[in-house]
Amino acid sequence: MDGLMMDFPLILPTILRRAETIFGDREIVSRQPDRSLHRYTYADMARRARRLAAALTALGLRPGDRVGTFCWNHHQHLEAYFGIPLFGGVLHTLNLRLHPDDVAAIITHAEDRAILVDAVLLPIFEKIWPKVAVEHLIVIGDGPLPEGAIAYENLLASADPEGFVPPEIREQQAAAMCYSSGTTGRAKGVLYSHRAIVLHSLVSATADAVGLREADAVMPVVPMFHVNAWGLPFTGTLVGAKQVLPGPFLNPPSLIDLIERERVTITAGVPTVWLGVLQHLDQNPGAHDVSSLARMIVGGQAAPEGMIRAYQERHGIDVVHAWGMTEMSPLGTITYVPSSRRDAPAEEQYRYRAKQGRPLPLVEIRARGPEGLVPWDGKTMGELEVRGPAVARAYYNNPEGDTQFTNDGWFRTGDIVTIDPLGYIEITDRTKDVIKSGGEWISSIALENALMAHPAVAEAAVIAAAHPKWLERPVAVVVLKEGHTATETELLAHLAPHFAKWWLPDAVLFVDEIPRTSTGKFLKSALREQYRDVLRA
Ligand code: ADP
Repeated sequence: MDGLMMDFPLILPTILRRAETIFGDREIVSRQPDRSLHRYTYADMARRARRLAAALTALGLRPGDRVGTFCWNHHQHLEAYFGIPLFGGVLHTLNLRLHPDDVAAIITHAEDRAILVDAVLLPIFEKIWPKVAVEHLIVIGDGPLPEGAIAYENLLASADPEGFVPPEIREQQAAAMCYSSGTTGRAKGVLYSHRAIVLHSLVSATADAVGLREADAVMPVVPMFHVNAWGLPFTGTLVGAKQVLPGPFLNPPSLIDLIERERVTITAGVPTVWLGVLQHLDQNPGAHDVSSLARMIVGGQAAPEGMIRAYQERHGIDVVHAWGMTEMSPLGTITYVPSSRRDAPAEEQYRYRAKQGRPLPLVEIRARGPEGLVPWDGKTMGELEVRGPAVARAYYNNPEGDTQFTNDGWFRTGDIVTIDPLGYIEITDRTKDVIKSGGEWISSIALENALMAHPAVAEAAVIAAAHPKWLERPVAVVVLKEGHTATETELLAHLAPHFAKWWLPDAVLFVDEIPRTSTGKFLKSALREQYRDVLRA
């Protein structure tokens, strides 16, 4: 027998309507290219999002059409987040740090019909535009327009929102799309449904997830072109939180200035951003008041335990470690100390906080080793598989990618983990990064974290180098902090008490910087390429 509840679709227009009617006066603040701050409210944002939907429809766009965005984090981008899905379109965020040829290939694969681009990004976008067949170029911000382009403000001004009748939207309909940035292999398109985004927003707002409330001021530093800024623009709008959007300025002093000025309570980004902010705070003691900041969500790459401790002990800021993927909308797991261990010694609490944590509600996990599913003993490594209503079930128009889905409907993440009896995962590697030494697995992440806990080490990446006997052996690539020194012998001695002898790197190489991906993660494939034969020399 069915229940007798309404068939009420889980769609984005409902979130927007709520923000407009209930939180109409809550603020959205963005840093503009001239560094000034733009302020308006959810009521303004909703009004303009509707104008955008009407104007794009008047241009001839129809439900199902993809509209690309090539933008920083700001209020116009937020308008696109809601305005494009409002007419049934698909918001396709483009990663502006990728190579122009890769962006062109992604636009062509997605068949975007229109693209919104920041005027300040036109110098980059001009290298992409001649390579794609897109009908409409819409430019956000001041400056001369390329031939045939439309100014965003003129487009909104031309709209007739009263005459626009929004189409009926089903919850399974696509609302947004994002290509995985391709740390490994070719970029693959993930197509988010309205339903997945609404459920992801609800789940991530819960107290043991991001814990976002109306009273918060949330600043996504993670770009809105990278998995919807981890869903925060949607979650923020759902709960009516104040949103603080940093625009093009992501350097530590600009971010700290926004935190102080706008009394930011929750922020989120990759560890490299927060390592930079930490260094700036440490070098300027007492110069900044970041006391408003309750939580900093860190993910995308393993957050070093040393950084979690440093923020807690020196600045009273809770660093909350999370794991996710483009394919998961993106939050998968997040870590808080379990209540049963609340009185445990600090050491043990930090161990929990450095793990990637427990699955969010509606996310299920399991891990598979060579002999099948692995026990939840916190020791046995296996590839993590996940499922849930905000997890992709296929890639857009890419049957090749289907090998990442199991026959019984789980997504194979490509991450190697252990799962402990309480359901906490710890990522030990990506399948491509794990070091296979004589048939045994060595976790590059565990070694990196331990190295980064050394006072002289700014950054460390551990990679597999070819070895005549063991096939692969670990090699550490290390960047020292300015003004610090350390030798290979010292660093190996620092690791020795924490690892089996055969885990210790065969060499420590000192470099000036570690190459990064478009989303700021270590580009280990480039390091492997460069140092593959270093042990053979
Ligand atoms: P890509 O890195 O391919 O661009 P994503 O941006 O979707 O793809 O990143 C997802 C991957 O990032 C995960 O599969 C995992 O390897 C890594 N990752 C994300 N969060 C964490 C974390 N907290 N700790 C370790 N690795 C992480």
